[in-house]
Amino acid sequence: MAQKRDYYEVLGVDRNASDEELKKAFRKLAKKYHPDANPDNKQEAEKKFKEVNEAYEVLSDKQKRQMYDQFGFDGPQNFGGGQGGGYYSYGSGFDGFGGFSDFSDFGDLGDIFSSFFGGGSRTRSSSSSKRGADLKMNLEISFEEAYLGVEKEISINRNEKCSSCNGTGAKRGTSPEKCSVCGGTGKIKQVVTTPFGQMATQKICSHCGGSGKVIKEPCPDCKGKGINKKAIKLKVKIPEGIDDGQTIVLKGEGESGSNGGTKGNLYIVVHIKKHPIYTRKAEHVLCDIPITITGAALGTDVEIPMVDGTKERYRIPEGTQTGTKFTIKNKGFKRVNGNWRGDFVFTVIVQTPKRLTREQRELLLELAKTMKEQPPIRKKGIFG
Ligand SMILES: [Zn+2]
Ligand SMILES: [Zn+2]
Repeated sequence: MAQKRDYYEVLGVDRNASDEELKKAFRKLAKKYHPDANPDNKQEAEKKFKEVNEAYEVLSDKQKRQMYDQFGFDGPQNFGGGQGGGYYSYGSGFDGFGGFSDFSDFGDLGDIFSSFFGGGSRTRSSSSSKRGADLKMNLEISFEEAYLGVEKEISINRNEKCSSCNGTGAKRGTSPEKCSVCGGTGKIKQVVTTPFGQMATQKICSHCGGSGKVIKEPCPDCKGKGINKKAIKLKVKIPEGIDDGQTIVLKGEGESGSNGGTKGNLYIVVHIKKHPIYTRKAEHVLCDIPITITGAALGTDVEIPMVDGTKERYRIPEGTQTGTKFTIKNKGFKRVNGNWRGDFVFTVIVQTPKRLTREQRELLLELAKTMKEQPPIRKKGIFG
């Protein structure tokens, strides 16, 4: 497969470009690659334009941009999918984002692009079939679930094809009729003047709303819309290592489209509950491990609880200071999308005993006699 160019590179903007900068860059490049501006090199220009369009389509959408920044092109396609639920995917590769950019902000450019792409069914000017809306939800999981990965059942309310009319919107036993105004095409041809000259464009037929069909007797269950709200349960696989705020996309699990339009996507934003012991930093797990003063002075073996429930024995060397950090390699979070793990990093906290038995007190007094009353104050040690 040909290597795709980075979307930011395609638009020639930097990674934290604002919406306004993106729009500017897109407008400039779209004009540059317009076929009329490239009469000798139409094919190449069209290819470039499509590349620019795809980049803008993703980066101008907050959610898609976040996904792109997070996963790049090569997220785990069909993650956790396979039999009985192949629809789980990370929305990676962006093949699901195929559509064309929303040109409504570009006024003069909209019609031009529709002529560029031959007024095809994917451009805005002919929306007889409509893609279903995307849905978004939040899902909270535990720290351990994020560490190990988990399958969750979720319920959503979404528009589904009406079962009474099978999505046609016409009362059972009847069917929608061809629109007499547009002859069933849903579009009306028009010639408009643009900065590039006269262009034939198409307008949505207002009589049938672009569907090309007129319903005489609407279905009573969906009131002619062909879709109904239904409560749906879905299983979602959360991958090992997912981080707070990351998004999982279930392609085609959003709202149903109308008139044969494709389904929208379901975006699930994952939130991870705070853990009483562990915290996370990138792929590393951090925690504090208390040890006794004697353990710190003499050295000691400690059992460290790992996030997966196992224990690791660790030898704390003699003379360990409070605040010293130790690392157990490869016991952190798995990198979603990678084959490596972070580390488990623990900080030793030396605990000064608050209550002593008589025997302990006497032993400590004996010890104290052998030590200087106060250790030397090193400025750096205290303030640095
Ligand atoms: Zn119906
Ligand atoms: Zn019509």
